[in-house]
Amino acid sequence: MNKYHLSADQLDTWEAIRKFAQERIAPQARHIEESNEFPRELFRELGEQGYLGAAQSAEYGGAGCDAVTLCLILEEISKASGAVGNSFNTHVSLVTELIGNHGNAAQKAKYLPDLISAKRMGAFGLTEPSGGSNAGAPLTHAELDGNDYVLSGSKAFITNAPIADIFVITVKTVSGVTAFILERGMKGFEIGPADKKMGMHGSPTSSLYFDEVRVPKENMLGPEGHGFRAFAQALDRGRVNVAALIVGIAQASYEASVVYAKERQQFGKAIAAFQGVQFPIAEMATEIEAARLLTFNAARMFDAGLPIKLESSMAKWFAAEAALRACDTAISVHGGYGYLGDFPVERYYRDVKMYHIAEGTANIQRLVMAREILGRYPI
Ligand SMILES: Cc1cc2nc3c(=O)[nH]c(=O)nc-3n(C[C@H](O)[C@H](O)[C@H](O)COP(=O)(O)OP(=O)(O)OC[C@H]3O[C@@H](n4cnc5c(N)ncnc54)[C@H](O)[C@@H]3O)c2cc1C
Repeated sequence: MNKYHLSADQLDTWEAIRKFAQERIAPQARHIEESNEFPRELFRELGEQGYLGAAQSAEYGGAGCDAVTLCLILEEISKASGAVGNSFNTHVSLVTELIGNHGNAAQKAKYLPDLISAKRMGAFGLTEPSGGSNAGAPLTHAELDGNDYVLSGSKAFITNAPIADIFVITVKTVSGVTAFILERGMKGFEIGPADKKMGMHGSPTSSLYFDEVRVPKENMLGPEGHGFRAFAQALDRGRVNVAALIVGIAQASYEASVVYAKERQQFGKAIAAFQGVQFPIAEMATEIEAARLLTFNAARMFDAGLPIKLESSMAKWFAAEAALRACDTAISVHGGYGYLGDFPVERYYRDVKMYHIAEGTANIQRLVMAREILGRYPI
């Protein structure tokens, strides 16, 4: 038995992705941050190594891995670079996943091989300028005209949008919220300039604008009116994946803190000798472990076919809170140097804050948890 009760295959994948992430991604993390450039070549490598199709079926070039294995991959990539982890997750866990689960045979054949090889990158458009928390009420709308739907409206904060080729978005149609696949270059579809952000530099976001874009009927993803249900399912699972990404950044901040505390000398000894430094490190290690275990628990429940709405929100909410505390502690342990750009801990702090907001804010996770818990015990 091993610490996390992982199978031999899961341990092998963990070892392989850890090696790849530390050898190929981590050395580029600083450059990605400072240049704010999306690392396209790295994504080609991730495609070649099979990680972009990890969760997809072999028929389209995927590896069909389980949810726990995907968490291991996400944690290691995010630990090496939060920005790569964020773009990877949008591409793999949201866009590829939605097309893999809800696309018809023609859509899967058309899009999955290109997404899995990184020939084309994906973006996921749910949030609108009018609101992200109330994601089931898009103002972007589409009307059927002959064989096309005519789309108008906009989306905001869309990860990968500046570099993506394939966009899966929600739109209001006559029968409810409907999902569509859009392609870069469609007439009337504009992608805004990259947003300036606090963190996640190199994982670009921007707005999308639709001005009477004619989208052929065959680009509808799933039945008309089922779009929000499809996105909500993807987000339930997605929260587990995001929790794994958050654990990755927190783990990086913890490991950096241990190394620094043992090296940095004050009052003639390593600062690790002081209880005021030891105790917060002990607390961050414990909270990260708890977040990882909540994440694995939700992933295992998903693999067992159980509902995970409550457990995935618990994992995402707790991981985000714990990681914010861990990244804050890491800066304190590094003292003044923690506030400078010389050490990566200030990047971890800026990157991890995004996960307190994106894919459901902390409040929205609490709302989901409370609904699930109180719904089980009617008042
Ligand atoms: C870097 C980044 C990348 C992103 N990438 C994507 C992407 O790829 N695709 C995509 O679709 N979206 C993306 N988002 C959008 C993200 O999911 C939203 O920002 C998020 O859901 C919050 O929506 P909002 O910004 O409109 O805030 P609001 O919904 O306006 O919320 C503002 C505040 O009000 C609180 N609040 C709102 N409603 C309630 C309530 N009922 N009860 C209690 N509190 C409430 C929220 O918790 C928050 O604190 C991204 C965001 C960021 C910052």
